[in-house]
Amino acid sequence: MAPDEMSSKTPADVGLLTATEPPPYTILNPGAEHDLLLVCDHASRYIPKSLDSLGLDAAAIRCHLAVDIGAREVTEQCASALGVTTVLCGYSRLVVDCNRELTDPAAFLEFGDGVEVPGNRNLSAEEKTARATAIYWPYHNAITAEIERLQQSGQAPALVSIHSFTPVLDGVSRPWEIGVLWDADPATAKMFVAGFEDAGFVVGDNLPYSGKAPQDFTIDHHAEGAGLPHVGIEIRQDISGSAGGAARVSKALATILRQLASRSEVRG
Ligand SMILES: [Zn+2]
Repeated sequence: MAPDEMSSKTPADVGLLTATEPPPYTILNPGAEHDLLLVCDHASRYIPKSLDSLGLDAAAIRCHLAVDIGAREVTEQCASALGVTTVLCGYSRLVVDCNRELTDPAAFLEFGDGVEVPGNRNLSAEEKTARATAIYWPYHNAITAEIERLQQSGQAPALVSIHSFTPVLDGVSRPWEIGVLWDADPATAKMFVAGFEDAGFVVGDNLPYSGKAPQDFTIDHHAEGAGLPHVGIEIRQDISGSAGGAARVSKALATILRQLASRSEVRG
């Protein structure tokens, strides 16, 4: 072994995250007591330095496989407008996808939309566990803690999970501007479909993905089992990725969230 190889440190040696890297999650408006919780699983394109960009070039890291373009901006604007507690993930979905079961191969994506992710090829169980321990579980535990905090104050917070989707996937164009994803809570979803349509958006009802599919871990894990109101929102990235589009979606979404909160207050 050459001396420089001997002195180089593997990710396991230095730990996955260094002290100067972002935290695994950020909470906005901590301590707020509205009966809403916003979450953004795919808010960041950041990849730990120890993973050496997962072998990807800069263009791949900017693309929709690494981050939900514009989703963080929409989520932050709603958080700011409503003062509602919000949890944002601090790392790219390519490091570990927080909206997948860890047993799902897509949690550590090796190939998607024509792009290979070299740094995810043949990961060992230890490498997967390191990513889950550093990022996935701290993020989900933060969501659990916020739900429990709101429940302790006598509320059943609605969980709203905000994502964005690429306008074209595998050569197929997607006509919907907003997707409303639901499974066990059609009543909440109906409010969002109607609200976005009223705001002039073309809305996909459980499109381009269905909330009934298993690739929806955050809502399945935190809301469905606990019987909390919930909905998944998907925004097309040509809209969420522009400042004007993100602002237009945020305004419509904030209006619907206010209606949802007032409905809960009446009910509760
Ligand atoms: Zn997403």
